Amino acid sequence: MDQMYDVIVIGGGAAACAAALTLRNRGKSALVVANRPETSSLWKAEQITNYPGLPAMSGEEMSLLFRRQIEESGAVLVTGRALSVLPMGDSFGVAVGSDYYMGRSVILAAGITREKLYPGESEFLGRGVSYCATCDGMLYRGKTVAVIGTGGEAKEDADFLESIGCTVLRFFRNGKFEVKGGLKADTLVFAGEEHKVDGVFIIKDTVSVTKLVPGLEYEQGGVAVDRQMRTNVPGVFAAGDCTGKPFQLAKAAGEGNVAALSACDYLAKLE
Ligand SMILES: Cc1cc2nc3c(=O)[nH]c(=O)nc-3n(C[C@H](O)[C@H](O)[C@H](O)COP(=O)(O)OP(=O)(O)OC[C@H]3O[C@@H](n4cnc5c(N)ncnc54)[C@H](O)[C@@H]3O)c2cc1C
Repeated sequence: MDQMYDVIVIGGGAAACAAALTLRNRGKSALVVANRPETSSLWKAEQITNYPGLPAMSGEEMSLLFRRQIEESGAVLVTGRALSVLPMGDSFGVAVGSDYYMGRSVILAAGITREKLYPGESEFLGRGVSYCATCDGMLYRGKTVAVIGTGGEAKEDADFLESIGCTVLRFFRNGKFEVKGGLKADTLVFAGEEHKVDGVFIIKDTVSVTKLVPGLEYEQGGVAVDRQMRTNVPGVFAAGDCTGKPFQLAKAAGEGNVAALSACDYLAKLE
């Protein structure tokens, strides 16, 4: 992708929506990368009764409203999972599946990841463990790979890997997994049984924010931010549940607004 966005927002809930609306009000170009709405915490809420200006409504309704508002604001909404944010001097590259987007700053509004990392997942990431079949599949052509995941995306990725000539071991269930190996991952352990593999594709809905940006500081259960929602990485801001408690919509929206205003200040200083 050639276009350079002013801000790339990662997330699609209250924090991301507030950030996108403010950015657009300030005339900034914004790309919002968001997983499918049904993956957010909000989707599970039966009824929200403490969000100002809106009558009681279900989390599902509110999630869809946020997405619609993002699109109507003129921000570009891409549905997908951001896999990494790579600082490149005065800009950032954001990988979404096999696509790549460029932005001059980034707002992390990715909520909280409840899924724990499997033992070995972090250690072997990039050395036999991958989060993206379209990006890394070709490296495993003619080899044996395992695909772990419970969503539709895991099945699609397993089918894709098979179509390019991989032997695929499918683990479409939750459970205790462990990745083992030496220099590279070579074994997947599931339910006490060892499976010899050349690669392991772990297809989750979210990627922990700590894994998204290299060197990002984390404290007391959230991304470390100051009152302007600046992280320790210049040009990267964070808002909402991913900065820690309280996990509340109004707090998430407020932080999204502050993060967007701070991103505007940051961009003004770059010019
Ligand atoms: C059952 C339940 C009931 C609740 N009830 C209330 C209530 O009554 N009142 C209240 O104020 N709060 C309530 N909450 C809390 C509220 O839902 C959260 O505080 C709020 O949704 C946080 O907003 P957010 O934008 O920070 O994150 P989220 O709403 O979690 O949005 C983050 C989005 O980013 C996506 N994402 C994550 N990683 C990536 C990635 N790598 N790439 C792309 N997208 C990504 C996620 O899938 C998600 O869609 C409730 C929560 C739950 C679970």
